[in-house]
Amino acid sequence: MIKKRARRLKISKNIEIMNTENFAGTANNLLTELQEELAQWSAAGQRRVLQAVDSACSRTLRVNGEVLLNFASNDYLGLASHPQVVAALQEGAGLWGAGSGASHLLGGHLRAHQDLADALAAFTGFDRVLTFSTGYLANLAVTPSLAGRGAAIFADRLNHASLIDAMQLTKAGGAEIHRYPHNDTGALAGLLANSRAKRKIIVTDAVFSMDGDLAPLSALLALAQRHAAWLVVDDAHGFGVLGEGGRGSLSHCNLPAHPQLILMATLGKAAGVGGAFVAANATVGEYLLQKARTYIFTTAAPPALSMALQTSLRLLQEPQRQATLRRHINRLRAACAELPWHLLPSDTAIQALVVGDNQAALTLSQRLRAAACWVPAIRPPTVPAGSARLRISLSAAHRDEDIDQLITALQCAAKTLV
Ligand SMILES: *Cc1c(COP(=O)(O)O)cnc(C)c1O
Repeated sequence: MIKKRARRLKISKNIEIMNTENFAGTANNLLTELQEELAQWSAAGQRRVLQAVDSACSRTLRVNGEVLLNFASNDYLGLASHPQVVAALQEGAGLWGAGSGASHLLGGHLRAHQDLADALAAFTGFDRVLTFSTGYLANLAVTPSLAGRGAAIFADRLNHASLIDAMQLTKAGGAEIHRYPHNDTGALAGLLANSRAKRKIIVTDAVFSMDGDLAPLSALLALAQRHAAWLVVDDAHGFGVLGEGGRGSLSHCNLPAHPQLILMATLGKAAGVGGAFVAANATVGEYLLQKARTYIFTTAAPPALSMALQTSLRLLQEPQRQATLRRHINRLRAACAELPWHLLPSDTAIQALVVGDNQAALTLSQRLRAAACWVPAIRPPTVPAGSARLRISLSAAHRDEDIDQLITALQCAAKTLV
């Protein structure tokens, strides 16, 4: 027994010696592999850069001591820094503390969370709302909870990454996956008709996040009804922007709540704060509460956020911000008609100017930056290869002269670059 232990000690000592000798070499090999990939991304113009911004979210942003007009934020209504929203956040922290302390089902679901959920249910017209810490987590909750073995997912090809990841999770659970060409209801109808899956789930962005166009929601709901399918709609970019009082894309398409319809929207974009919600029929809501792992196994968001969101939900219903945003959209689109680049059709705050080549998109973005406009270039794999673009985000926080400054900068760049 003693002998055996001695031998084991000796063996582990040998391993230790080997480790210290080879450690540096092994780690270097591991790092070299990653560095080679990083270098490939740089060479392909695909390397992303993280930039710390030295100012609160508003119409301008300060980076490296420069002040630039901000055409990159999703704060479409200018609520992120609104004094009433900030005050509600501060008051909320005073009332409810900084953290929720637990997951929703284990005591972290505070009255502030429930009040927000009730307000969102009343606002959207659905029976039941569950709130989530982020939109990414909300999307991971819905499709995987509904799908199981024998389910089939029908997803638009241009769906947001979080919907794609949600779909990948269903694959692990045995679901079939079908991706239909962007907004092609004919192709979708064919796929639905041919499917023998016992549970069918159609999943789409309402406003596509890199193009700004709308899904044909009425036609999709009609297909869902004809084929006894669920329709999951991600309205991250329509909520607060489109529809009556900012109710979103469903309201814009005159679609009231429907039992087969499950709405997800984020609260970190037009609502200006953070988090997300899923709105659905009472049964669906109760089902998700039992099954959604990203609701159950995570700490409830800080309750003060719910207080801030109740205030922003009131503010976003005031019509003047949507009207200002619309004016900016029209102004930009009218001017861009003259440019050599193609502005994708969009009535939303997302205006995508397609340049094509990765490097050309980067160069244009740099030119605009030199003219004090911050407009990010979006490259593959975020968008299809060959469709690198500038993603111009407009906001009610912008002033008319901000839009004019961007237009002038684009016109100057067109003269020298094309
Ligand atoms: C931003 C976005 C999300 C993710 O929402 P977060 O709250 O930022 O995690 C989901 N879907 C779409 C379409 C989005 O644009």
